[in-house]
Amino acid sequence: MSVAAKPVVVFVLGSPGSGKGTQCEKIVSTFGFVHLSAGDLLREERKSGSDDAALIESHIKVGSIVPVEITINLIKKAMQKNGDKNRFVIDGFPRNENNYEGWEKHMNGAADLKFVLLLDCPDDVCLERALKRGQGRVDDNVDAFKKRIAVHENETKPIIEKYRRMGLLRTVSSLASPEEVFEDVKKLFVDI
Ligand code: UDP
Ligand code: MG
Repeated sequence: MSVAAKPVVVFVLGSPGSGKGTQCEKIVSTFGFVHLSAGDLLREERKSGSDDAALIESHIKVGSIVPVEITINLIKKAMQKNGDKNRFVIDGFPRNENNYEGWEKHMNGAADLKFVLLLDCPDDVCLERALKRGQGRVDDNVDAFKKRIAVHENETKPIIEKYRRMGLLRTVSSLASPEEVFEDVKKLFVDI
């Protein structure tokens, strides 16, 4: 009888517009990981018109963080849907203390967090990228973006520091082109 291996997880964090989604796509195509974007999962759930849709919309619109019970449930379901694959890059999570605690409570022990990749890029470059990406997102405008940067600064950075202290943080500058950035990202994934 074989015991199913614990899913392997890498979190990808960084300011809005720092290139999380772009690098995750490359990690998928090069290393065969499954990419789960917490923001995309929430946007899908919003679109489905479920009971949580209005609450999710109210947070996304202004860049505040959705209560973790909703997000973790979506992440868990998405992981289960990929039952046969067990290596995941989770992008844009955990973003605050509530997210961090929710993960610890519901998932830690059930998943093997290998490291946390931080994409590091100056705010003005991130803003320019977010405004240019043209995905029609309600939060890709200057006002919402400023709020998201502030949330990143005040709520996500303390979580990033926590992972640094735990020795789990791997920082890569994401100022260069996606291809150049991936050269550095790649090195972190070769042996996991
Ligand atoms: N969001 C959230 N919890 C998460 C991830 C995203 O509440 O774990 C919400 C939050 O309102 C955030 C928005 O979704 O501002 C967009 O997140 P996304 O990761 O798509 O933005 P990015 O950082 O990639 O620009
Ligand atoms: Mg994204």
